[in-house]
Amino acid sequence: MLTLIDAGVNTEAAWNVFQTQLAEMGYRPDDIEQVVLTHHHPDHIGLLARLREDIPVFGHSYCVPWLINDPNFMRHHDAFYMELFHELGLTNQRKSSDVLKQMKSTLALGSVKPLTNTIAEGETLPNLDEWKIIETLGHAQSHLSFYRESDGVLIAGDHILAHISSNPLLEPPLQLDKERPKPQLQYRDSLMKLLPIDIHIAYTGHGENVRDIQTLVQQRLRTQHEKALLVKEMVQREALPALKICEQLFPTLFRKQMGFTLSATIGLLDYLQSLEMIDKKLDDFGVAYYATKSK
Ligand SMILES: [Zn+2]
Repeated sequence: MLTLIDAGVNTEAAWNVFQTQLAEMGYRPDDIEQVVLTHHHPDHIGLLARLREDIPVFGHSYCVPWLINDPNFMRHHDAFYMELFHELGLTNQRKSSDVLKQMKSTLALGSVKPLTNTIAEGETLPNLDEWKIIETLGHAQSHLSFYRESDGVLIAGDHILAHISSNPLLEPPLQLDKERPKPQLQYRDSLMKLLPIDIHIAYTGHGENVRDIQTLVQQRLRTQHEKALLVKEMVQREALPALKICEQLFPTLFRKQMGFTLSATIGLLDYLQSLEMIDKKLDDFGVAYYATKSK
């Protein structure tokens, strides 16, 4: 069963490179029999729009609203961020809308193509019994990795990247009434989930393959912990809203990529809270202030 894992960005250039590389392997796009997604981000689903119309597509249930650009979900998505931005200290509505708009600008690189069926942890890939599905949430609320025991191959999507830590992104919960996910905590759990697995090589979503998963995972966990301790020091001096912490953590990137840097900051704050090192208190305007836990 000729299976495509993920389908890059929806641009002419990406489509040309894709066709050329397929041709080098002796295939054409129409030869592909099914597509399996590691997650729903635009740079992993874009080319779905250019594949033959009846191609079966499989992914995590969180991909469902994203792949049809569900208006109800998108309304909920926007409201989720607007409310959250306020709590994080971004109290200017117009500015919040701009940040949201910037975050959503990458959606243009994706595509609209409904899932044929959802897949989940514990199952094997459709028509590929050897491949086990491992849920690896954190970078995305839809993230899955695929493992074949016979040769220790892991298809890691963006869960593991060789040169950079794949950022846990803050995303709204699938259901309106559910609490927001804590992607940094999920990400750490998903990293640790890989430790007992005998992985010979991991094929990643961007950049080089990874051979020594164990060392890389330990390193990522350590770096995150150290970064979190820096944040703890910041709020030891005075109680701060996430926006101020973000500004100090990412002085140059902050203005250009507020969505991404806020995600990273809230991740570290969630982590420190989980270790009971810090506390959060809402002020009268609903802005959250973080401070080291009073004994
Ligand atoms: Zn991604």
